[in-house]
Amino acid sequence: MSDFLLELGQNHRARALIKGLGLPIPMPQDLARASEGFIARPLEGHEVAFGHGDASPLSEVIAKTLAEAGAHVGVVHDCPSRGIFETQAEAWSRPQWELTLNPDGPKLDSIVFDASALDTTESLRNLYDFFHPLMRRLKKCGRVVILATAPDAKQAPLMRATQAALLGFIKSVAKEVGKKGSTANIIYVEGNASAHLEGPLRFLLSRRSVFVSGQPIVVRAPKGRKLPEWDWSRPLDGKVALVTGAARGIGAATSSLLASAGATVICLDRPADDGLLSKVAREVGGMPLPVDITTPEAPQAIADFVAEHRDGLDIIVHNAGVTRDKTLARMKPEWWDQAVDINLGAVERITSKLLEGTLRDHGRIICLSSVAGIAGNLGQTNYAASKSGILGYVRGLAPVVARRGITVNAIAPGFIETRLTAAIPVVIREAGRRLSNLGQGGQPRDVGDAITFLSTPAAHGITGTTLRVCGGALIGA
Ligand code: NAD
Repeated sequence: MSDFLLELGQNHRARALIKGLGLPIPMPQDLARASEGFIARPLEGHEVAFGHGDASPLSEVIAKTLAEAGAHVGVVHDCPSRGIFETQAEAWSRPQWELTLNPDGPKLDSIVFDASALDTTESLRNLYDFFHPLMRRLKKCGRVVILATAPDAKQAPLMRATQAALLGFIKSVAKEVGKKGSTANIIYVEGNASAHLEGPLRFLLSRRSVFVSGQPIVVRAPKGRKLPEWDWSRPLDGKVALVTGAARGIGAATSSLLASAGATVICLDRPADDGLLSKVAREVGGMPLPVDITTPEAPQAIADFVAEHRDGLDIIVHNAGVTRDKTLARMKPEWWDQAVDINLGAVERITSKLLEGTLRDHGRIICLSSVAGIAGNLGQTNYAASKSGILGYVRGLAPVVARRGITVNAIAPGFIETRLTAAIPVVIREAGRRLSNLGQGGQPRDVGDAITFLSTPAAHGITGTTLRVCGGALIGA
């Protein structure tokens, strides 16, 4: 489905004319998505401004992450962490530059701020002092990321308040920069989890997070054995992934991205979609598995298929889903049953079976929820109940499988351009697209990029959470 305003906005004359006439028409920014495969240095050549308050407990890991990923980092002359950044810049032969806090300096690809030590109301002023002069220097499709301390029961109330304040700050920044296609997000890091910050920081600064905006990511120290090293350019090498609902939309895009990250993908969809499914499986070098996930035999059939073709499974993406919309008074019982069973019941049954010996240690389970599961939606009691159920399911299952190093997370897409949203009446569809920080719908691959990130070893510290891929949708925010 094409987005008329997005296409119009790419025409410079039309854009200038609408701006010149002062017409109140939103002109969304074409988002800069990654055009290359997975690479070790996704931030090559990026100009990144780094700052912090009085202290920066995370500066070592931030400096190393940015230098390894290829970024050129600028810090102010009297920054106490300057030496740490210089050492990393030299080690990776990245030119270091001096950041000046004025609005007229060189343009910036990203702004990163370590706010994890802010602990008083007064210390929040550090945010204003650092960001105020830099906001106009952020390029189109730029990135803002704040690092914070995850809440814990032992923190003083004032520290809790200060760290909580960061979320309101970043969500507002996300709204301010969204019209230029830029995003702003926050990573909350648990006290002993800084070693697991690298993956989420790389992801949020990269062009694979274009539709993640105004969101918190919580990083915890995982239980279980340490992971072996991995190659950033083939992060899923040797892994086997199952994607349900792979024949089209988000499932097809996810299958392709998992394959390009090195995984062998088992592409599952309904037998009625066999032709389309085989085509997707062929294109990604994977295997088609025509199965209706709601049948009683489905969990065993999947386990048998994996056993027949591979030693085990590393990644499960529960993507298959349906809407059966009607207001509750008009809803037929079979519509209720179908939506709840496909979106939630089958997820639980298949996961239980695959945990019996098919999913390997350090496995990944990613379930598709929806912003409708967070906010509710008119005419979607069945769909929203099933998608809220997914949020509870990942929270409940994560601690149960943590000892095996398995992570379980949900992705909540907002408005994504697929046949699911093409079926929405035009006025509601247009509102769904525009009511977000980025003012446009996302592409299936934007969700696929987030799923792929959560599938990688780099997301080892993220479990039991829900990541919204919604462009900063105002609904349920
Ligand atoms: P889609 O309709 O394009 O694709 C869904 C796929 O699931 C289809 O190929 C379908 O055949 C398959 N499927 C349905 N029932 C099945 C069954 N019983 N057995 C096997 N396969 C089955 O949808 P999409 O937009 O790509 O959505 C994918 C997921 O993302 C869904 O879970 C959906 O609820 C969720 N989601 C989508 C959006 C959006 O804006 N598109 C927003 C929020 C959440």
